[in-house]
Amino acid sequence: MEEKCSYCKGNLYGKKEGKSYGLYCKTCGKWIYKSKELLKEEEMEVDKEEYEIILIGEGNEKQMEHIAQMAGINIYMAGEYLRTQKEVVLYKGNAKETYKNARNITEKGLLYKIEPEYPYEILRKMTEEEKEKITKKILEKIKIFS
Ligand SMILES: [Zn+2]
Repeated sequence: MEEKCSYCKGNLYGKKEGKSYGLYCKTCGKWIYKSKELLKEEEMEVDKEEYEIILIGEGNEKQMEHIAQMAGINIYMAGEYLRTQKEVVLYKGNAKETYKNARNITEKGLLYKIEPEYPYEILRKMTEEEKEKITKKILEKIKIFS
């Protein structure tokens, strides 16, 4: 795998554009690696992009509930907070750290988006795990109440 741009030796950045994922050189504007598949964990090593994890879900009751719980405020304050703070950046950092943090935030049940778009496969895997977890929880609840 290339560590630097093979044209200008510039740094490489993870990128998603349409249905393409890859590593991109911002200096000369060339894709060094481009694929229809999400990127693998190895690509994180050379990715110099800084990703932001941003809180979303204004108007989503579950989201407000979670924020209220975490912050120790009531649900109305949480709703107000999401309305007034359009962009709450929870975390900013490289691809690897972003993955770890996104995972933690998902486990807490918070809704978020990553900017620029996160081109890694690992998040799709995590979503599957999450689905499994939720399914288990639902099944447990059904057992209790049936
Ligand atoms: Zn370049």
